[in-house]
Amino acid sequence: MIDRTRPVFLSGHRGMVGSALVRRFEAAGFERVLTATRRDMDLRDQHQVDAWFEENRPAYVVHAAGTVGGIHANRSRPADFLYDNLMIHATVLHAAHRTGVDKLLYLGSSCIYPRDCPQPIREEYLLTGPLEATNEAYAIAKIAGLKSCSAYRQQHGSNFISAMPTNLYGTNDNFDLANSHVLPALIRKFHDCRLAAEASGAPGEVTVWGSGRPRREFLHVDDLADACLYLMDHYDGESTINVGTGEDLTIADLVDLVRQAVYPEATVSYDASMPDGTPRKLLDVSKLTSLGWKAQTALSAGIPATYAWFLDHVENAD
Ligand code: GDP
Repeated sequence: MIDRTRPVFLSGHRGMVGSALVRRFEAAGFERVLTATRRDMDLRDQHQVDAWFEENRPAYVVHAAGTVGGIHANRSRPADFLYDNLMIHATVLHAAHRTGVDKLLYLGSSCIYPRDCPQPIREEYLLTGPLEATNEAYAIAKIAGLKSCSAYRQQHGSNFISAMPTNLYGTNDNFDLANSHVLPALIRKFHDCRLAAEASGAPGEVTVWGSGRPRREFLHVDDLADACLYLMDHYDGESTINVGTGEDLTIADLVDLVRQAVYPEATVSYDASMPDGTPRKLLDVSKLTSLGWKAQTALSAGIPATYAWFLDHVENAD
């Protein structure tokens, strides 16, 4: 187990993953959880990152910061996704090495696996085929980060480990329709549909992107945060570790679950002009389960909980 009295830097603490990490590490009794806002340091700037690490001297780092977004955001801003993410991992890993951080956990993403690789996706399928075009820029940057962890380990003996989360959702998600991932986007769409239908008296319709046929796996962000703490405590290996539930469903089935939770009366249509992306994305989580960790939150509980959070914090925020 890592030492709860030593400082741990959780990057990206305002995001969905970083904020879940802060909650989990504080609950686990860490006495010095360090965070930094964009004003404290721009993670793309090596000088600022070096200065911050020199001053704050974290013993551990969980690196969750990044420029992220759903299929539309990735497709429309590839230069931002590539530049920001390349820089953000390069600066933090280098500063962690230079200041002698004891252990660092780098978070990848399941979208960095080849588009058409066998399912469920095993860790060793990385770089065995072409990437999905809609998120290639993001994936290239994240792969560079992952390979950097191995490179520092090989050249300097750094204990830099990495984990590969599947599609995430939950508290502090992004519900903005243009940039969000599918699950929060559906919550927002069914919610808006219900409000419009209640105002007009006419039944509402929700438009879903693509064919509804792609399959995805969804992990609640609190489960990811728990897995991160578990890996910091129990794993020191070079291989990246997939983090997911081991179960997937079609987008159409997901639509049905969200409809039931938010507005069961809505009808649904599909917009085939929007992209489907990767046909299937399910992680093989046997490495993680053999280490002794398993996800706890079923979608049937996680979706209503996320909708409740949305109502309290986004819709009725003021
Ligand atoms: P991906 O997992 O990287 O493809 O990212 P997304 O979560 O953005 O999309 C997953 C799947 O959901 C894709 O097949 C999308 O076409 C589909 N989808 C359906 N409706 C929506 C929507 O309103 N927003 C988003 N982001 N995706 C949607």
